[in-house]
Amino acid sequence: MSLIVQKYGGTSVANADRLRNVARRVCRTKAMGHDVVVVASAAAGTTDKLIAMAHEISNDPHGREYDMLVSTGEQISVALLAMAIQELGCPSVSMTGFQVGILTDSAHTKARIIDISTEKVLEELHKGQIVVIAGFQGVDITGNITTLGRGGSDTSAVAVAAALKAHRCEIYTDVDGVYTADPRIVPSARKLNTIRADEMLELAGLGAKVLQLRSVEFASKYNVPLEVLTSFSDEPGTLIVQETQNMEEIVVTGVALVKNQARVNIFNVPDRPGVAARIFGAIAKKNVDVDMIVQAKNREGEPDMSFTVSKLELKKTEQAVNEAIKGLGSSGMTIEEGFAKVSAVGIGMRGHPGVAAQMFEALAANKINIEMISTSEIKISCLVKEDQGEQAVRAVHESFQLGEPSGAATSA
Ligand code: ASP
Ligand code: MG
Repeated sequence: MSLIVQKYGGTSVANADRLRNVARRVCRTKAMGHDVVVVASAAAGTTDKLIAMAHEISNDPHGREYDMLVSTGEQISVALLAMAIQELGCPSVSMTGFQVGILTDSAHTKARIIDISTEKVLEELHKGQIVVIAGFQGVDITGNITTLGRGGSDTSAVAVAAALKAHRCEIYTDVDGVYTADPRIVPSARKLNTIRADEMLELAGLGAKVLQLRSVEFASKYNVPLEVLTSFSDEPGTLIVQETQNMEEIVVTGVALVKNQARVNIFNVPDRPGVAARIFGAIAKKNVDVDMIVQAKNREGEPDMSFTVSKLELKKTEQAVNEAIKGLGSSGMTIEEGFAKVSAVGIGMRGHPGVAAQMFEALAANKINIEMISTSEIKISCLVKEDQGEQAVRAVHESFQLGEPSGAATSA
């Protein structure tokens, strides 16, 4: 018998009717002869409400109590969903992360899964039960409830699928698949039938908020076949695969936009070993993700350094930099807000040297200035003014003809 893990996101479990809809899908999968494990999120908006409640009481709530609170939305969902499944005549049992044995580290609000015990789940499956597991939550070695970061139920589902060696993991979300760009920004965006995991990783990290990044990493690491689809129709979704054929002709797969970017510039950084390590070490210690980094010599032959961070992390970054450059002899720093990052992603760009130029041309034709550039093997990112971000996505999407059903063509 094959085992399927199905994860239902907040909109799929938002009310009684939707829970019944999910229950019907789950029972149908069971009736096809599969074992079914369901992972559920909190109803849409619930986690936000819980977080707001915590902040009504405290500006800086203790991590343990915070997780105790914000993990409760999932417990409501799984209890209701198990009931809805039972109403359809299918035996079902709900479980919290603790009851399953989802062991995490103790990093409250962003814990990582260390191990999942399969014993209890397998025992229930053998009894013919549909097992409904609370996503987003786990328990650390001392028995404290932990949570996995926003959107963490995706990771719960993939981790459970990996631990149980499931046949596949289906993620039911509020979009019906992965698109070439955000359809709200680019009306001609097209749903992809398949996407490679490494492209998906870049897109997830680049703001295509379809899946929690870590879930894709997990799926790659443990080779879990992953599908993103919607619970509101029977349309096939997007398959996230390790390899695809015919990818030679497809140069760019998708375009992503991340807003709320800020740029930090540090001037006249001393030109000697260890300086970058000192500055970025101090920033890393504050747990800030630094994104694009540029170091270049100014006219006096001294290096200037610029990098981007999320606007939300600007305060922490500023503190860290100020401390790190004290006594270094740098002539100071400036901070600029109001940027967005536009990225073109595609495994096929490896062998196509003209891709960056084509992207720059598309931006130039739209009078969009490029503020910063970074590239990897399968990605080109440009920092632009935030108010031109959406236009930039449309321009790049159109230039690579991503809306065309035949896939992307390129003049490169
Ligand atoms: N309920 C959590 C959140 O809103 C986890 C999830 O939905 O995946 O972030
Ligand atoms: Mg989600």
